[in-house]
Amino acid sequence: MCASEDKRDAQYRIERLRMVEEQLRHRHIIDERVLNAMLTIPRHLFVPQEHRHLAYVDAPLPIGHGQTISQPYIVALMTQLLMLQGSEKVLEVGTGSGYQAAILGLLAKEVHTIERHTELAACAETVLQSLNLSNVHVHVGDGSIGLKGFAPFQAILVTAAAPEAPKPLLEQLDQDGRLVIPVGGQWGQNLERWTRHGSRFDQEVLVPVAFVPLRGEAGWKTDGWNWET
Ligand code: SAM
Repeated sequence: MCASEDKRDAQYRIERLRMVEEQLRHRHIIDERVLNAMLTIPRHLFVPQEHRHLAYVDAPLPIGHGQTISQPYIVALMTQLLMLQGSEKVLEVGTGSGYQAAILGLLAKEVHTIERHTELAACAETVLQSLNLSNVHVHVGDGSIGLKGFAPFQAILVTAAAPEAPKPLLEQLDQDGRLVIPVGGQWGQNLERWTRHGSRFDQEVLVPVAFVPLRGEAGWKTDGWNWET
């Protein structure tokens, strides 16, 4: 079932403020635009009713189809790493609940987000529309190969773990564009940032993370990851 409106908005706002101060600012999320976006977007609307009371806790939560909405700190960290100024066209791979896309929608000019599960994409689109985020466009398909028709992107964010940084995504980066992506398997992943300089790509390996697998042509096949999602 899609997320929907709730009456406890004032209380959620207090929880959101606490999330920003205690989970984000305290852990060196310093980009004020990112902090403001996290304070503005009502995360609880992207969480299914049965888990909504946990929307602002310091953890990922289930959203159906074996998928998760990422921990607030990880959303903020990955967003900060993209260094958005407001003029960018951004691709997100792995729409899930649509929460990360909403944050990006406040920080960039245009956002394309792609999800392989049709039902998740439809729910995400409903919530994004209810928030009037008209610069966020939801697509259904295999995002491991990017979205060639809308490239180049000044920033690409992948919210599922890949065996390696997919070549099609690197190729769809604009000059000086950034790709932020978890790389690794079921038993260990690192967050990486790739920056394009002409035909050269600089790689930074940042922090250990734990994500669901990226599937598709440039993702994990079920035989490389021991359960289906
Ligand atoms: N960004 C999401 C949010 O804010 O709720 C959380 C994403 S969840 C951790 C990862 C998502 O990636 C899942 O919804 C999964 O279905 C999706 N995914 C995995 N492989 C994909 C692919 N090849 N193309 C598009 N989406 C994919």
